[in-house]
Amino acid sequence: QAFKTIQERDNRVGAYLTLDEEQARATARKLDDKLKAGGERGLLFGLPVGIKDNIVTEGLRTTCASQFLSNFNPVYDATVTKKLRKADSVILGKMNMDEFAMGGSNENSSFHPVRNPWNLEHVPGGSSGGSAASVAAGEAYFTLGSDTGGSIRQPASYCGVVGLKPTYGLVSRFGLVAFASSLDQIGPITKNVEDSAYVLQAIAGYDSMDSTSANVEIPDYLSALTGDIKGLRIAVPKEYVGEGVDPVVKEKVMDALKVLEGLGATWEEVSLPHTEYAVATYYLLASSEASSNLARFDGVRYGVRSDNPANLLDLYHESRSQGFGPEVKRRIMLGTYALSSGYYDAYYLKAQKVRTLIKRDFDQVFEDFDIIIGPTAPTTAFKLGEQVDNPLTMYLNDILTIPVSLAGVPAVSVPCGFAEGLPVGMQIIGKAFDESTVLRVAHAYE
Ligand code: GLN
Repeated sequence: QAFKTIQERDNRVGAYLTLDEEQARATARKLDDKLKAGGERGLLFGLPVGIKDNIVTEGLRTTCASQFLSNFNPVYDATVTKKLRKADSVILGKMNMDEFAMGGSNENSSFHPVRNPWNLEHVPGGSSGGSAASVAAGEAYFTLGSDTGGSIRQPASYCGVVGLKPTYGLVSRFGLVAFASSLDQIGPITKNVEDSAYVLQAIAGYDSMDSTSANVEIPDYLSALTGDIKGLRIAVPKEYVGEGVDPVVKEKVMDALKVLEGLGATWEEVSLPHTEYAVATYYLLASSEASSNLARFDGVRYGVRSDNPANLLDLYHESRSQGFGPEVKRRIMLGTYALSSGYYDAYYLKAQKVRTLIKRDFDQVFEDFDIIIGPTAPTTAFKLGEQVDNPLTMYLNDILTIPVSLAGVPAVSVPCGFAEGLPVGMQIIGKAFDESTVLRVAHAYE
């Protein structure tokens, strides 16, 4: 049935890059047999899942939506892929995205863009655009996305679904093709908050294969969904509802706050004073890390190799020139520049210092509050083609998600209404490793 729906809808939406029908059927049969033999159901038993195409899947093509990896078949599973299999979910295929997760509209996919199921003229957001659009269109029960500066939350917001970015270190990054290693996190995109809690339960936990994996106890996320938020103290940063935020988006979030108040929570306006520096800080740090991470794509070890190179240098040069798209090249150049001697102190090091200040803003607010709430993105989904020629406007769409990534704390985007037929998302931000409160609040609101 899942594949029938995909067949009917995906030629319009474009959410999938690779389908794996044969394997999915085999898994489904295996699950049937397991039940018949009296076996126990895993946590995600029988649920059809789509995996973002920067998460490796053994024997199933993993492209990062890049021509460079258009022929890349991984020989191992990412830790999250393994965990999904162990929980008895059924992998349908791999989801479209911005190339190497760089972008916020899915227009940087080197295969084809994804369209927003609510209005096909509009973008689904990015970079996990395929992951979000497929859930919204009913083409997958849930999906995994990755979030470096907003790539789970922003597309979830644009597509009217629930997208959770866990605390940095909660979910293993082993097998996630690295973009900016100090920021990347994998998380679930689902129809509702309860499903999000289920998927998080299945994928969270310490992994010795990821040196930044946190060795913390994993709570029972489902038992956190009590519906009770009496006495909860909410902070609303004035920078998140001020200039640059579409008044309709602000209005919907304010309405949602009233609902939360009705449930016994209180809210107050606060300040995260370094918010204005977050976008610049992020694009320096993320591009620096990307320029280093993407050095492994040399035409020798992975993916596509250029034909007839004159020598080894030429092989690197030609393979990279042909394999990477324009946005990826832009980031590699920016990052290489920021890391080069003479500029390192002025750019990279400075950005690291500002990152600390941004993190402290959050620490300070969390001394007096349980949760921070604001919009996920300043606007609803924009039109395809509207911003492709202007990277700076595109980068500014991330202004409300990037600070959270820099601070490493968890946040979920939940739908909170519509504006002109397009979904609006509210962002609920929690203390590090306090996904339980984030999910509890989101669930109480929903
Ligand atoms: N839009 C942001 C960027 O282009 C976020 C990407 C992400 O989170 N992977 O970097």
